[in-house]
Amino acid sequence: MAAIELTGLTKVYPGGVKALDSLDLVIPDGEFFALLGPSGCGKTTLLRTIAGLETATDGSIVIGDRDVTGVQPGARDVAMVFQDYALFPHMDVTDNIAYPLRIKKVGKAARADKAREVGERLGLAHLMDRRPGQLSGGQQQRVALARVMATQAQAFLFDEPLSNLDARLRLEARTFLKKLQRELGVTTVFVTHDQAEALAMADRMAVMENGLIRQIGTPAEVFQRPANTFVAGFIGSTPMNLLDGVVRGERLEVAGCKLPVPASAEGRLSDGEKIVYGVRPEYMTYSVEPVEGAFGGKVSIVENLGAAHLVTLEVGGVIVQVVVPEGSEPALGAEGFAVPRGDRALIYRDG
Ligand code: ADP
Ligand code: MG
Repeated sequence: MAAIELTGLTKVYPGGVKALDSLDLVIPDGEFFALLGPSGCGKTTLLRTIAGLETATDGSIVIGDRDVTGVQPGARDVAMVFQDYALFPHMDVTDNIAYPLRIKKVGKAARADKAREVGERLGLAHLMDRRPGQLSGGQQQRVALARVMATQAQAFLFDEPLSNLDARLRLEARTFLKKLQRELGVTTVFVTHDQAEALAMADRMAVMENGLIRQIGTPAEVFQRPANTFVAGFIGSTPMNLLDGVVRGERLEVAGCKLPVPASAEGRLSDGEKIVYGVRPEYMTYSVEPVEGAFGGKVSIVENLGAAHLVTLEVGGVIVQVVVPEGSEPALGAEGFAVPRGDRALIYRDG
């Protein structure tokens, strides 16, 4: 097991696409690190470059105490799970799990023992003689995990390993994978485009855009204090309210409403400055009575979220959304107020 340290890591593909733009990242030994970002932002490239399947254009990769930048993939001591699992269709589960050991010239009996041990741990004991084609998607995914575990690598690299599972199985696999990583304590880089998955699983996470890391932090830090409007818009199961505003003396004018300056921005703003006011729908309350420093408007949509409702207010020509607990949701067309939590509202200048 080992830490991973990337310094100035850059990948430019032939043709000129800069998929990684001088990334600096340290992932401590044993950490579950999630790499989140939209399609095309460079996640797969980053994993493949760490694994040695792509050559870095510039920068270095250190795993443990070894600089592996120029080292062949097989000698880097990392194990990767691909999005499509990359199982061998003509081999049974035992041979699929044991394959990396065969490459390492481990003897047949020892390979079978290890495959059985790992297979049992992952609930595959009764399936060891089957081929991938005779397994469900969830079972195939476990075989891919078992194969990685059998290798005892210094680090695990997962490229969207849950994205081919249906929603229910995906949630189960999340918990299972997280628990397994805890038990094994192997440094893990987990790539996903699903913000909920990253928030749920990661010890720490990075949010990427166009080959750049836009924020690194714990899930709580990234959720509560997105560093810029890109991250703010990307994280959260309901979109964050991001509203243009202007500083007016001691207050803010946003969507025609007068709001207090949030705690996080006190003393940082100058009169007349243009800002973007950010607050999550979960960090506002709904009031039927007029409230000072709130968004007042007309209810135009009420969406059922299960145990709560997402209420959309039309406020001075823009929309403001607020999460309202079950039972207190307003009627369509009602006049109401969305009251931001001063300790959770954020001010951006990059909008
Ligand atoms: P992600 O996994 O986040 O969807 P990728 O790492 O696959 O992103 O791709 C990052 C960028 O690099 C994209 O613009 C993609 O089109 C480009 N890219 C990926 N692989 C290659 C390749 N082999 N040759 C040229 N461009 C590539
Ligand atoms: Mg990808």
